[in-house]
Amino acid sequence: MSFDLVLFGGTGDLAWRKLMPALFQAFRHGSLPQGGRIIGVARDDLTDDAYRALIRARFDEVELAKRPSAEEFSRFAALLHFVRMDLSKPADYARLASVLRERNADTVVMYLATAPSLFTMACEQLAAAGLNTPNTRLVLEKPLGHDLASNRAINETVRSVLAEKQIFRIDHYLGKPSVQNLFALRFGNSLFEPLWRRETIANIQITIAEDLGVEKRGAFYDQTGALRDMVQNHALQLLCAIGMEPPINAHADAIRDEKLKVLRSLKPWTPETLTQHVIRGQYTAGTSGGEHVRGYREEPGVDPQSNTETFVALRTEIANWRWAGVPFYIRTGKRLAGRDARIVVNFRPAPHAIFRLPMGAGNRLVINLQPKDGLELHLFAQGQENRAGAKSAVQSLAPVQLDLDFDKRFGSERVGAYERLLLDVIDGRLNLFVRSDEQEEAWRWVEPVLDHWRSDSSGPRPYAAGTWGPSAASAMIARDSHCWSEEC
Ligand code: NAP
Repeated sequence: MSFDLVLFGGTGDLAWRKLMPALFQAFRHGSLPQGGRIIGVARDDLTDDAYRALIRARFDEVELAKRPSAEEFSRFAALLHFVRMDLSKPADYARLASVLRERNADTVVMYLATAPSLFTMACEQLAAAGLNTPNTRLVLEKPLGHDLASNRAINETVRSVLAEKQIFRIDHYLGKPSVQNLFALRFGNSLFEPLWRRETIANIQITIAEDLGVEKRGAFYDQTGALRDMVQNHALQLLCAIGMEPPINAHADAIRDEKLKVLRSLKPWTPETLTQHVIRGQYTAGTSGGEHVRGYREEPGVDPQSNTETFVALRTEIANWRWAGVPFYIRTGKRLAGRDARIVVNFRPAPHAIFRLPMGAGNRLVINLQPKDGLELHLFAQGQENRAGAKSAVQSLAPVQLDLDFDKRFGSERVGAYERLLLDVIDGRLNLFVRSDEQEEAWRWVEPVLDHWRSDSSGPRPYAAGTWGPSAASAMIARDSHCWSEEC
């Protein structure tokens, strides 16, 4: 099967930091179909060779499991081409069309790794140039819109030129091996299904913590904030993976139908929950990685009066028979105490205690997404001191842990998220991509929070860089008599 992958924004940050390394890894693993071309597109005036040299130089700055030798890179570089094009100029699309006609590849992937403001224009002009053929697949990066209305506007334009099955909306969290393992854990094993419900689970916590600040993306982030950047997409997709019913099969629409039902079942916001169940924060100067770091408002590109949130913690519920009454907590932020993405499923304590356990202690399943990729099952067992003969008739149990490290088990050079997703696009597999109705439902759910914040002059709560966010986030969860997993 021949393919052309057109990488709009082929010189941008996402392209050289994530997409090119992922394509290179796919090439190295021998998974990229033979006879393909990767065509970078941007307004720079570059020859193919200059583009190859640019990508080669950038490779020195990214993490790769193993550096490519000159020979290996030159074999990969033979796939790379460059087309100069301004997406806002209709006349430029003819140039791309003529390059694509040279081959008439079986599959043409158009990857829009550019500012979302160009998406609508690009789709219309690709269609005007006749580039929306049945062989075309379009990949859209997040954020797809700024709110429900802008998301719908983009989706309507895209769907007017391509069928839904040709549209691949990326949420790279879905490509993470650990998220796939979450599906495998739930739907490939029978062990947890009987426990996966309100009768046994006390609460579920989704944490996506970053220790970095906004880095060079201050201007972008200041217009976006944590709710749009992380909650509307990644965190809600994780919540769907945890909360969804078993799909009837592994086909894309069966999975997406079940995720959509979860989003539709999220408890609607009320004036009371908007004030009590959502905490927004913004980092101030502090210490991160042993170094003093500046506050958000001092970051380059950020408005010094900015009220943009760099932290969100919220509580929600999935209002259905399986989950009614079980709190789902979501927490994400920048400049937190660590780089750590995990889902913690806290089980209820044993109903009748014959052993001594720490107060309120229950079993816990931890799904680690980053930096480690694995599963931990926290149990209780008899420790050394009990065997020595305890005086008390009631024995104490000690916490113990079953630890499954996927990197150790399957090797650390497993297929990464972008590699997996890019290969899925080339192969036409939609399972790990987000359908428009899911995305719209997620926007519909976060919009009341955005509206509330706009009318709430109190602004985000400050937290020092290098901490776990404002103390109000701990107070929120404590009101339910629970605690964040690192605090318990
Ligand atoms: P970026 O570094 O600003 O790169 C933008 C790219 O688009 C450059 O190659 C730029 O090259 C090209 N471009 C800009 N205007 C153009 C035009 N009129 N015609 C043709 N090409 C044009 O942006 P980025 O960080 O890579 O982000 C790209 C997209 O990915 C955005 O939607 C972003 O939200 C999303 N995203 C990025 C990341 C990330 O880590 N960077 C993560 C998730 C999602 P020229 O200026 O030379 O034309």
